[in-house]
Amino acid sequence: MNSFMEECLILLKPDCIEKSCIGEIISRIERTGLTIAKMRMVHVSPDLISEHYPDDPSWLKTVGLKKIQKFQAKGRVLKEDSLSIGKKVRASLIHYFSGKQVIVIVVKGTNAIACMRKIAGNTEPFTAEPGTIRGDYSTDSYEVADSLDRPIQNAIHVSDSPESSQREMEIWFSKHS
Ligand code: GDP
Ligand code: MG
Repeated sequence: MNSFMEECLILLKPDCIEKSCIGEIISRIERTGLTIAKMRMVHVSPDLISEHYPDDPSWLKTVGLKKIQKFQAKGRVLKEDSLSIGKKVRASLIHYFSGKQVIVIVVKGTNAIACMRKIAGNTEPFTAEPGTIRGDYSTDSYEVADSLDRPIQNAIHVSDSPESSQREMEIWFSKHS
């Protein structure tokens, strides 16, 4: 055990299950040398996914800001503020996941969170690097997802910090198991 040892919560999202690429993505995770510590398939309720994607202004603003910056880089200015973007995305995530299945995985190892985010790639598959999970398993973009009024389909969720990983593990493995 070293002080860089982490646990990271992963969701293989409904679009990953629908495309039958669960096995390939699990193989990619295992190739990193990280260990799969827990895994289960869960039928997602609105309550569960509402807890996972929290109604927390700071998280909502981060989601919105990421989009604003991404559009700025393309030379486009969004008029909407980060909080209202985040609220729209959260509502769309709750609608999309509810009633569907996900695979929930806890991955353990040295620098697990940063390594998993690196192999997952950018939120938007269209601009994610080839070789990353999101770059290889989807071509979706902000524009397409927004025009179809659904979340960006990017195959995988990865916790973004040790704190969020801990919070998410409690949601998916303790309270509801
Ligand atoms: P992640 O950590 O890379 O998964 O991204 P976030 O935590 O910022 O957002 C959560 C999820 O919401 C993303 O994985 C996407 O599926 C979706 N999403 C984020 N921003 C947008 C957006 O502007 N439009 C749409 N349609 N979906 C979004
Ligand atoms: Mg996130």
